[in-house]
Amino acid sequence: MTSWWILSRLVRVRLQFPVFDVTLIEAINNAAQKLSENGVSNARLDAELLLSHVLNKNRAWLITHIHDALEGKNLQFFEGAVDRRARREPLQYIIGKQEFWGLEFRVTPDVLIPRPETELIIESALAIARDRHGPLTIIDLCTGSGCIAVSLAKELPSAQIIATDTSEKALGVARTNARAQNVAERIRFFEGDLFEPLETLAVHGRVDIIVTNPPYIRAGDLNTLQAEVRDYEPETALIAGPDGTEVHRRIIGAAPHYLKPRGILIMEMGMGQSGALAAMIREQEQYGSFEVLKDLAGIERVLVARKR
Ligand code: GLN
Repeated sequence: MTSWWILSRLVRVRLQFPVFDVTLIEAINNAAQKLSENGVSNARLDAELLLSHVLNKNRAWLITHIHDALEGKNLQFFEGAVDRRARREPLQYIIGKQEFWGLEFRVTPDVLIPRPETELIIESALAIARDRHGPLTIIDLCTGSGCIAVSLAKELPSAQIIATDTSEKALGVARTNARAQNVAERIRFFEGDLFEPLETLAVHGRVDIIVTNPPYIRAGDLNTLQAEVRDYEPETALIAGPDGTEVHRRIIGAAPHYLKPRGILIMEMGMGQSGALAAMIREQEQYGSFEVLKDLAGIERVLVARKR
């Protein structure tokens, strides 16, 4: 019996027939082991999500079909996806999407993957928007995937949003996301460094809210980041000079030219940066009060500054 089985396997392999006898659960187990051997955290969950993606089914479906066969093209695609993840490519770049603020965003290696803590910017901007009347003008700097601009456009149906980024490819992704959420007609995208592409627009002194999740990692810390971030996410979206506050400094300096009186600047920041950023705000007399918000992990994450 056993030798017959081995023989039949050999013949199959020899004849290069597809291997028919991998079930979904076996495929998931093998993949989870391979991913975990390569240092992937949540290896099993990622294996399931990759298989869901390849089969275009949700995880609930997988659970009720674990003894089905995985074969042919699907097996090949799954193995390809698992190999990529085993090389520590982020799951989101392999499946091409990430959820943010309850919306599905397309992501490619040209954009930073939206992070849950960035939703604090949305919460904070919405709280401010509630207290203001009339259509708001909002600027989103370093828009990347457009997750902030698009989420705000969805939530604030009368807001006009201007979004900038230095990367033309990132703007392509952001435009795709704006179209997918039907808000493209209220977001204008511009390529360039921070406010620079807005010089010729008549928006000086007219902006209600500026939001931004700028790069904020210290150049020297790049090597300490997990492989997924260090090796795959765009370096320009991550690194901001030797202190990690280089981009914040320029934003804090220029924002008052664009904000209305009592306009608001909302910036995400890295752990331990709130003191340095607060000092920059205090140095500029155009700002009045400011506050620092903590994320769900208790880390000071967002700075909200009010222009006088
Ligand atoms: N605004 C995008 C985000 O928050 C991109 C940020 C960036 O590229 N630094 O995810």
